[in-house]
This record gives sequence, structure tokens and C-alpha cells, in this order.
Amino acid sequence: MDALTRISPHVWQVPFPVGHVYLVALRGDGYAAIDTGLPGSAPAVLDALAALGAAPAALRQIVLTHCHIDHMGSAADLAAATGARVLAGALDAPCITGAQPAPEPCHSPAEQVLHESLVAGFAASGRPPLRPVPVDTALHEGDTLDDWPEPVRVLHVPGHTPGGIALYLPESGLLFPGDVIGTDPAGTQVVLGPFNVDRAAAVASFRRLAALDGLETVCVPHGVPLRTGARAALAAATPETDWL
Ligand SMILES: [Zn+2]
Repeated sequence: MDALTRISPHVWQVPFPVGHVYLVALRGDGYAAIDTGLPGSAPAVLDALAALGAAPAALRQIVLTHCHIDHMGSAADLAAATGARVLAGALDAPCITGAQPAPEPCHSPAEQVLHESLVAGFAASGRPPLRPVPVDTALHEGDTLDDWPEPVRVLHVPGHTPGGIALYLPESGLLFPGDVIGTDPAGTQVVLGPFNVDRAAAVASFRRLAALDGLETVCVPHGVPLRTGARAALAAATPETDWL
């Protein structure tokens, strides 16, 4: 596993080739995981916890930003290994539990090319199949999360998926945007996440997150975290024309 990166006093990034996981130190020695990577990623997340001196049972919460395989893919394995509760946006929960298929994104031509290369890569990688997982807590706009090191707000950010959520910590200006926001691999350009079910809604969610008061740090699942000056980087972004 690549090295853990400490993003803030309470937040670490567990890097993956596709879909980073973030760990948050909770009050009382526990941890939360934000997303879980592709199927087969659980051992690396457990290694990351061990590197922080934590046993598997220290993982108390698995918060899924949305229902895509590179975010919920290892939630079942991690929940089984740790006993953590699974939390997810209410409208995406049926796709995470397996009650409904994940809704198909509406691809632009550029997104179609990218999607085909990613699907070919997944097929060649021999990863285990996706397992659904029960959702213990369905999250809604304005909800808070117990035991976080500072207040956290759940934001419903539809468009990438119907029930996608972002998490915002106003005191430190730290945002987990899910796939609404990404960066290019070099971390120099901020972009709208690709593969959206409703592109106009996704752009509106991007603009909403970009306007958050006090925003400083953006923990993107794809690309490089924005560690400082996130507001300026987001203000310079042009999500309306990304991926067209
Ligand atoms: Zn996604």
C-alpha cells in the first residue's frame, strides 16, 4: 500500500489507483471511513487502520458518498471485518443494498471513451464481484454525524447519482465532495466528476459546494486533494463545459 497521507489533524487519505478512501479519527478512539474503494480494497483499508495503531473494531462508521462500485465496492467486506455501521444517502441506499440497480449515467462522447477504458481495466484486473451491503442509517440533507471531531453537515448533492451526499466540516473548512468534484491526475485542474445521471443537477451541486463558506480543503475521491485555497481553485473551474 502507498503511504497514508495526513490531510488534517483528524483526517488521512488511503490512496488507491481508482477511488481514494479517507479515514477520520472520531472522538473516543474510533474511526470513520469515507467510501471503501473497489471490491478487494478492504485489506488495504485495514492495513491503514493498523498503521494508525487501530484494530479493525475501531472502525465505527462507513459513510458512502454514493452507490458507485469504486466507492461502495468494499463496504460489505469492511463492515463484516469491523462491525462498522454503514451510512449512505437515502436515495442511493436501495442501490447499495441491492434492492435496485444503480441508475445508468448519461455519457457524453468523451465520457463514453473514458468509461469503456475503465470497464476494460476492471475486467482485466480480476477483482472480486461486487457485494451489496445493508445500510444502517439513511442520510438526508442537514443531518449530522455522531462522534466526529468537529461538527459535520450532510449535504444532499444530486446529479452524479440521485442520492449522492457530501460532508462538510465548517470549522476547518474541510469537504468530502464525493464524485461531484475531482481533479486531473496532476492536481492542477478542478473538474466536474464524470458519469452523471443528471448533468445539469451535477453542475448545480458542484456550484453549491464551490460556494460553501470558509471552504479550504477538498478531499476528492479521484485526483489530488486540494489542501489549501480550494475556493479559488473551484471558482476557476468550468464544470459547465467539462467532459463535453
Ligand atoms: Zn461515482
